[in-house]
Amino acid sequence: MNAIEIVKKLADFKERACSGENQERVLSYLESLFPEQKTERQAFKTPTNYLVTVAWLILGISIGLLVTLKVGLLGFLITVFFGVSALLYFNWYASPVSRFPPLRKSTNLIVRNVSKAISTTKIILMAHWDTAPISVLYAPKMVGNFRSSLIINMILIILAIILTFLKTFLPENYLLGGGIIILSIYFLIQMVVASFDFFRYGYSNGASDNATGVAAAITSAHELWKNKEIETELVLTGAEEVGMIGSKAYYDTYKNTFDENTFLINFDTLGAGELKIISKTGSMGDIIYSNILTEKLTSATEIYPEFSHIKSGAWHTADFDSVWFQRGGVKAVTLAALDSNGRMPNIHRETDVIENVDFKPMLDAIDLAVKVFGKF
Ligand SMILES: [Zn+2]
Repeated sequence: MNAIEIVKKLADFKERACSGENQERVLSYLESLFPEQKTERQAFKTPTNYLVTVAWLILGISIGLLVTLKVGLLGFLITVFFGVSALLYFNWYASPVSRFPPLRKSTNLIVRNVSKAISTTKIILMAHWDTAPISVLYAPKMVGNFRSSLIINMILIILAIILTFLKTFLPENYLLGGGIIILSIYFLIQMVVASFDFFRYGYSNGASDNATGVAAAITSAHELWKNKEIETELVLTGAEEVGMIGSKAYYDTYKNTFDENTFLINFDTLGAGELKIISKTGSMGDIIYSNILTEKLTSATEIYPEFSHIKSGAWHTADFDSVWFQRGGVKAVTLAALDSNGRMPNIHRETDVIENVDFKPMLDAIDLAVKVFGKF
């Protein structure tokens, strides 16, 4: 089964919600691709999708704001709790609301080679198999402002905390009360806008995001397994679209086994534009990827003419499964494809279907990863 066939097979599922009705069939299909390897299913708990988490955050902050009008201190404390949770979540840190109900079961598929490696080097190839709720925030007209609107919303969350603090001590101030009401209405409108398309269209098909990444990771793994000296592990994560939940579950379980010889290569959305070595992500602050992996990949693009069109790129519209590894000190990189505007066309939209996939960046990602890490 080659990479293009894997993408087509995955895109045959209408959607791949991380805890949805297709989960079992998607996992069984993926497992069938590894007759000679050992597969392990890692189950974990996750919110159904990120809209559930966003609803908790926005309802929590709005309720906190409104309670402040009656019981200052209580409203302030509620706003602080949900406000801080939101700031953590939107800066891609673990947030307590990710454990709020309703929780569902999702699954990572971990695939290992049966033969024991000699070298201490461990390469983890990762890609998320799940797809996202369709949202207007990813429509071409909106997505260009994604990072700036996220930052504005985070500033407004900080403002909400300040207003509830002041109102606690100045309960008679009607100007503060007016500001609090306007802010809570604004947050509630944001929630409706973010989730409106989900109720019309459901989940994306995810042919590019991220059937292409899964196919690239699987194909690269099969190539790297030919080198018996190095331990190569393939991790196909669930619930990336909820907030990199599956990757976090894997990271937390295995972090004690990671050392300076552990390397993570994450593949995400390789179906349009040009392949990029992602060097920068993050929302309020930048997360910089600068390590031996990014160096080796970049130097390959300088040495080999067939990779000369591959450049580094930045991505600030949500984040990648690699974020926990990068923050935890594991050398990590994400390979993703961006168009000439620095965007991922069609993601989280009803247009992320096989007809709109260009396989070139995915095939480039496989060639580059195998070239660089085949003899690592
Ligand atoms: Zn993705």
